[in-house]
Formats: sequence, C-alpha cells, structure tokens
Amino acid sequence: MTKPNVYSIEPIGTLESPFKQKFAIPRQPALAKAQGRIKLTPPFSDPNSLRQIDTYSHLWLLFLFHENLDKGWSPTVRAPRLGGNTRTGVFATRSTFRPNGIGMSAVENLGVKHTASGLFLHVGNIDLLHGTPIIDIKPYIPYSDAIQNASAALLDDKPVPNLAVNFTEQARAQLARQPQQDLPLLIENCLSQDPRPAYKQSQLDDPKDYQVQFYDADVHWRVSQGEVWVTEIVSLV
Ligand code: SAM
Repeated sequence: MTKPNVYSIEPIGTLESPFKQKFAIPRQPALAKAQGRIKLTPPFSDPNSLRQIDTYSHLWLLFLFHENLDKGWSPTVRAPRLGGNTRTGVFATRSTFRPNGIGMSAVENLGVKHTASGLFLHVGNIDLLHGTPIIDIKPYIPYSDAIQNASAALLDDKPVPNLAVNFTEQARAQLARQPQQDLPLLIENCLSQDPRPAYKQSQLDDPKDYQVQFYDADVHWRVSQGEVWVTEIVSLV
C-alpha cells in the first residue's frame, strides 16, 4: 500500500558528463564550463517535448543526487562551501544530503541533437556527475529568475579558491595525447577551486597525492607552495 502524501518520480533522462566521480566537481554550475548531454528516455524522448526550447539560452535542470540517496539526511549539515566546521540548517544550504535528494542547476542550452542513438539535449556549465538522473527541465526566465537585489550574506566572506594550476612536463605531454579538446580547461577550472576537504585548504604544502577522473583520464595532482601541480594523466582506455 502506498503511503498518503508520498509520490513517485520517474526520471525523464540521464546526463552524460565528463565528471566520473564526485570529488573535484565544482560546487555550482558556472564554475567549470563543463559540457554534457542529456539522453531523454521513452516516453519523454518524443521530440515534441523539446519543441521551441532553442528559444532559451539557459535552462533549469532538476535532478536526483543519486549517489547520495542511500545516505539519508539530517536537519543540519556541514557545508564544505561554508568551511565545513559549523552546522547549518539543511534548507539554508545546497547540500547534496537532503530530504528527497533533489538538486537544481541553471545550465547553458547548447541545443538539441536527434541521432541514431536517441534524442539528446546538450548543456554547458554543469556541476553534475555522469549518470545523474534528470527529473525535469524548465526554461530559465531572466525577468523573474535573475533577482537584482538578491543577497546571500552567509557566503559573502567565502570566496571560491583560485589556485594557480601548473603541469609537469610529463603531464603536459600526456595531456596532449588525450582526445577531449576541453580537458585542459576542465582540469584547470576544477583544480583551481581547490577540491581538497575544507580543513586541508590552509595547507600550502600538502604531501598527499590526489587523483580525480575526468572523462576517461585519471588526473594525479598535488599542492605545493599554494599552487596545484598536475603530475600525471593516465588514460583509462
Ligand atoms: N547546483 C546544484 C544545486 O544547487 O542543487 C548542485 C549543488 S551541489 C553542492 C554540487 C555537488 O554535488 C558537486 O560538487 C558534486 O560533488 C555533487 N554531485 C553532483 N552530481 C551528483 C549526483 N548525481 N549524486 C550525488 N552528488 C552529486
């Protein structure tokens, strides 16, 4: 028997993204200029459902934080963007650990492509994991969605880190062999934001070797003298 006031949701499609793991994905959409595409699934893959969507430059994506759904939620969270120390009410954050696990991102509309393998909506400025279930798409409407006098005082003194990103000679040569044109910029944009845990971010010389996967490449990096050094890029295919 279904519980009263409990509703089920069927995703309309799945996102294909260069982000193959949560680590190092930017905390909000416009921060990495990453591109992906949504493959619409039947019965939502009827091309009529996207008719005139090309008249909007930006779209809202509503999606499920599917990798965290089994981890539940609590009324307060330690948001990494707020330094990771104080607990904030879950509804005063964009935490991924929330009731119903629903996320929302304003993304760039890069157009519809109908190919032999299906109906795709290409999107830019994404902050979402590969395989994220998309539950709705809506147009971004500047006259009402862009609120001129909006404020977010909690974030005012929390600038996004902006570290210099360097490549060793070996990493640069390996990068040149990777097929994705946007990989260098993706690495630079994501790592400059210092994806290390908040408590590590004051550590200017960090002995740890970090690893993150973008597309099919394992990127190894470390922080030295307050700058990121990409040391190796290993192709996984
Ligand atoms: N812009 C969205 C929002 O405000 O609802 C997402 C913000 S959330 C702070 C962004 C983080 O979600 C990313 O850094 C990544 O680690 C995580 N993430 C992205 N896709 C996810 C998924 N499908 N499941 C779980 N976590 C995900």
